Amino acid sequence: MKGIALIAHDGKKAEMVAFIKDHLEIFNNVKLVATGTTGQYVQQTGLKVKKLLSGPKGGDAQIASLVAEGKLQAVIFFRDPLGKHPHEPDVQMLMRLCDLHNVALATNPSTARLLVKGLESEFGVVK
Ligand code: PGA
Repeated sequence: MKGIALIAHDGKKAEMVAFIKDHLEIFNNVKLVATGTTGQYVQQTGLKVKKLLSGPKGGDAQIASLVAEGKLQAVIFFRDPLGKHPHEPDVQMLMRLCDLHNVALATNPSTARLLVKGLESEFGVVK
């Protein structure tokens, strides 16, 4: 399997950590990449993750570039619909490129749970 990218806006970082802890088996078996601050949170769970720039400093754009290069299997991006984000154009670009390149994109925990289940059944990373 290619890698999985993890991104969470500030208001959603706790949910991202909880989600990862609930799915440690699969996340332990895949290459993870994350935006900077999200990556720091992910590291607290003991997982190895490649940290890119922080989202507002270009991290979402870096992940968009990985999507365009065909290096990612899925993007799990817990967006905060109640927050304002200076890098909203980068967020839109990332989502557009996921659609353009048909890369699985989950923007909330319910969809991410189904996505992870799908990856487990497709790639056999099942508990
Ligand atoms: P962060 O970026 O993980 O560096 O906080 C996420 C984002 O806001 O896109």
